[in-house]
Amino acid sequence: MSSIHKKVFLTGATGFLASHVLELLVARGYNVKVSVRSQPKADYILAKYSGKPVEAVIVPDIQEEHAFDAALQGDKDITAVLHTASPFFAAKTDPFKELLDPAIKGTTNVLKAIKQYAPQVSQVVITSSYAAISNLDKQKDPTFVHDESTWSSVTWEQATTDLAYSYRGSKKFAEKAFWDFIEQEKPNFTGTTVNPPLIYGPLLQKVDSIDKINTSSKVVYDILHNKEAEDPLTYSEALGLWVDVRDVALAHVVPLEKPAEAAGRRLFTTPGYYSAQDILDIANKNFPELKGKIPVGSPGTGQRNVDKYTKFENSKTNAFLGIKYITLEKSIVDTIKTLLEIDREQGVTF
Ligand code: NAP
Repeated sequence: MSSIHKKVFLTGATGFLASHVLELLVARGYNVKVSVRSQPKADYILAKYSGKPVEAVIVPDIQEEHAFDAALQGDKDITAVLHTASPFFAAKTDPFKELLDPAIKGTTNVLKAIKQYAPQVSQVVITSSYAAISNLDKQKDPTFVHDESTWSSVTWEQATTDLAYSYRGSKKFAEKAFWDFIEQEKPNFTGTTVNPPLIYGPLLQKVDSIDKINTSSKVVYDILHNKEAEDPLTYSEALGLWVDVRDVALAHVVPLEKPAEAAGRRLFTTPGYYSAQDILDIANKNFPELKGKIPVGSPGTGQRNVDKYTKFENSKTNAFLGIKYITLEKSIVDTIKTLLEIDREQGVTF
């Protein structure tokens, strides 16, 4: 595929998802400028991509006003921006400082900097989330269909007063700010959002210790490390939508290669539902060395509740991407391989 873009600016390049986006951009021959939070992180990326057209700038905190000005000022080659940087964890005390401000102000800061200092940018892709799509009241309504046009029901009041809703709110209101900016400011760029549910797959990012792995990889880690539940059917109770990180990376790059078609789209990337039981079945089948060390649950029951959940429809996204999704088995096997690798590097035995 070919692209019109001379250089792509990618924010938050040390993250789980962005590491794959960067890998794919480099593999497809793009010139890339990344933003990271510190000099050691920049050094790490530059060493990893030594000899490749990758440069790095430091943006210590995306929520600071003018955070992106210096990164974009004077660089007339940047014609596309992929904004992935945003916190993904459960807020502990302060929903504004921990989640809402970096998500929302982080988004508006990059948009304002583009408009003011990089008017040559013609495309912006923002990593949003299924959290901005999913209607909380409809999770267990099998007559309800979530699609690219659905918006989360989370209110500003919920997001700011109940920490359980703050992450969802951060993604919904950051995405709203993005579309509002395009409508009101009429910048030179078109917009696309990528709205993945929980993302699994191999970890490419530098991990200093296993307790610092990204939130979605930690879900797999915790399922494997939990003690066997008393009721083996527990593992098939909670279902969620999922997608592999390599497919989400692709969903950030395809828009650069189909700019006219990408404009205005929300890309709802998922192949379907999974449960903890599905993850345990895959782990027990593919990693005999973990036998007896991880829960077994109730094999084969992973999808037994799927009919009780909301339906989803993302054929427009799939047709645009031309995607054949990575299977849950491949995704989880590759996730576990890298988790075991990190354990080994750190001298941790399962
Ligand atoms: P991650 O590994 O924690 O990456 C988050 C990135 O954002 C990191 O590069 C982080 O920098 C950067 N960041 C966070 N707050 C920042 C701040 N205040 N200033 C500067 N940089 C900041 O998580 P991820 O899973 O890759 O998430 C990436 C994006 O995907 C986020 O927008 C997230 O909402 C979205 N998403 C993720 C999932 C999922 O299941 N993983 C699902 C849907 C959407 P450091 O590395 O320096 O901390």
